[in-house]
Amino acid sequence: KNSVDFAQVRAQFPILEVVENGFPLVYLDSGATSQKPQRVIDAVTQYYREENANVHRGVYGLSERATEKYEGAREKVRTFLNAKSTKEIVFVRGTTEAINLVAHSWVSENLTEGDEVIVTEMEHHSNIVPWQLLRDKLGIRLTVLRMNQKGEICLNALKGLVSEKTKMVSVTHMSNALGTINPVKEMAEIAHSVGAKIMVDGAQATPHMSVDVQDLDCDFYAFSGHKMYGPTGIGVLYAKEALLEKMAPYQGGGDMIYSVSFDKTEYNVLPYKFEAGTPHISGAIGLAAAIDFLNEVGLDNLARHEHALLEYATEQLSQIDGLRIIGQAENKGGVISFVLDGVHPHDMATLMDQDGIAVRASHHCAMPVMQHFNVPATIRASFGAYNNFEDIDRLIASINDAKEMLL
Ligand code: PMP
Repeated sequence: KNSVDFAQVRAQFPILEVVENGFPLVYLDSGATSQKPQRVIDAVTQYYREENANVHRGVYGLSERATEKYEGAREKVRTFLNAKSTKEIVFVRGTTEAINLVAHSWVSENLTEGDEVIVTEMEHHSNIVPWQLLRDKLGIRLTVLRMNQKGEICLNALKGLVSEKTKMVSVTHMSNALGTINPVKEMAEIAHSVGAKIMVDGAQATPHMSVDVQDLDCDFYAFSGHKMYGPTGIGVLYAKEALLEKMAPYQGGGDMIYSVSFDKTEYNVLPYKFEAGTPHISGAIGLAAAIDFLNEVGLDNLARHEHALLEYATEQLSQIDGLRIIGQAENKGGVISFVLDGVHPHDMATLMDQDGIAVRASHHCAMPVMQHFNVPATIRASFGAYNNFEDIDRLIASINDAKEMLL
């Protein structure tokens, strides 16, 4: 039994009052981006109405207050991840930028020809392409840890794959296409046993479970604010301080310097060395409000709620003839991908939109996952704090209607 009243949680999301094609919106695409609670909208609005100024520069009160808010958001993120220090919290645009930052500033400086980066078969394109770009530039190897038919990776297979040539293992904490939750703590141990670093793509994990970067002992952890009830355009790279200290800047510009002359530039201290230019101040403030929201609901309560929805949806979907659920990992978050015999996912999702149901039909930026299961695309329903059992009932009814129309 959950102590949280999830009807109250849902009521905090004004967008859910929107009517789509004559029906109240059923939003089942939180894996792509989550909706925003009123407190996040208010925090951003209040910043622009009452607090807007550039940070770290002004001596006047308004700028000092904006700086306090921005740095307060960093401290909130530090607590959220249980990082040791705010020096380890770099604000970026999102997961994609965080991974690219690590690829440029750590991997490109520390790997040479013949060294290896390992990724899994279930990665989002943003955790594949940056390493491929480096592979082509540096002559490093990109090795793929395969998954089984349930959509799980095997720790023993990783043990067999790593060697002294392995310098980086980069893995998603939770798959956006399958919902699989990976054993990243054990993977970190395996990576470290050969002296490699581990980077964790937390884009899908931070909205659904509590993350403790010290307990996981990961070297790098990336996430996006917009998937965890915060604004778009803001995300975080966590990295161990000792690594960040040794890394070269990713971009040059204002704020990331201590002093500049035409002969020589001295870089700013951490984390500012990695935050060139005026940052996304309102984004960080909105992200802090999103963390307040998550803390108030409680990530454990949220995980329980979404798990109940997942179980119910799985049971209901399994009863539909010709429907196949893609991704049946033992440890799975609130994402359910499926295909229906003889029906193209896009046609299905288009009909479902007519019922006010927002689901995604695509390769989910994880084409290798589609190749593994030999499907062009899947329909994906992904859950958030605001979803309820009625949403699942409407999903099922809509699938049945669409099926009749298409088959
Ligand atoms: N990794 C995973 C697992 C994701 O689901 C996503 C977003 N779909 C990303 C990375 C990229 O995140 P963003 O587009 O916010 O940079």
